[in-house]
Amino acid sequence: MNQPSSPPLIEARDIVYKYNSGDLAQTVLRHASIHVNAGEFVILVGPSGSGKSTLLSLIGVLRKNQEGILNVLGEDLNLTNEDKMRDVRKKMGYVFQQHNLLKFLTASQNVEMTLEMFPEYTEAERARITEEILGNVGLGDYRNSYPAQLSVGQKQRVAIARSLVHRPQIILADEPTASLDSKSGLHVVQILHDMVKNMGCGALVVTHDHRIFDYADRILHIEDGVVS
Ligand code: ADP
Ligand code: MG
Repeated sequence: MNQPSSPPLIEARDIVYKYNSGDLAQTVLRHASIHVNAGEFVILVGPSGSGKSTLLSLIGVLRKNQEGILNVLGEDLNLTNEDKMRDVRKKMGYVFQQHNLLKFLTASQNVEMTLEMFPEYTEAERARITEEILGNVGLGDYRNSYPAQLSVGQKQRVAIARSLVHRPQIILADEPTASLDSKSGLHVVQILHDMVKNMGCGALVVTHDHRIFDYADRILHIEDGVVS
């Protein structure tokens, strides 16, 4: 449900971002503006090289903003210090195209790693919450499996569980279905969508995958660093 009365979870305005400087400078975001409200599932679509991952990484505090307004979860990211940035990062869940699971850890252990950043959880709570979310993504029977024993779709669902187990207020997903077949892809998107609608967080999902578009509350387009 949209809550227009509360401020957006993400508000980016007139973002300009360049890689390199001098003769090698390449401007990849040109006054890009975007906002995401609580409860919204927003899709960002655009051709390869249009700046999608760069924009997501700025919002996800994985890189420092250069120009333009960037407010995330009430923090002005242009002003915040390292501690605040870490706090904002901890309230987000980032899902990548590649699952990046640690191969020597089981599904449960991979997911539980996220919770270890939060000292407020006891060991018993970590185990319970991990089990619950693995059940939610349909992997209750696979908690002791290692990544090598799982299909690509199952691994991506573990990665989603790992990114969402701490109940982030914002989900950022960068082409989360790109390596999946159509059935697993839809399953993954349904999970993300359910999380948004059940937890009231906001999601910004980058994709070229047309099958996902039906899930969006809004679809934004980016081309050559300009969002429309
Ligand atoms: P998209 O995710 O839409 O494919 P990206 O944000 O990854 O686009 O990239 C936008 C442009 O920035 C591309 O031309 C890409 O080559 C360039 N780019 C991306 N990352 C870097 C980097 N780390 N250094 C220099 N150029 C980069
Ligand atoms: Mg990309």
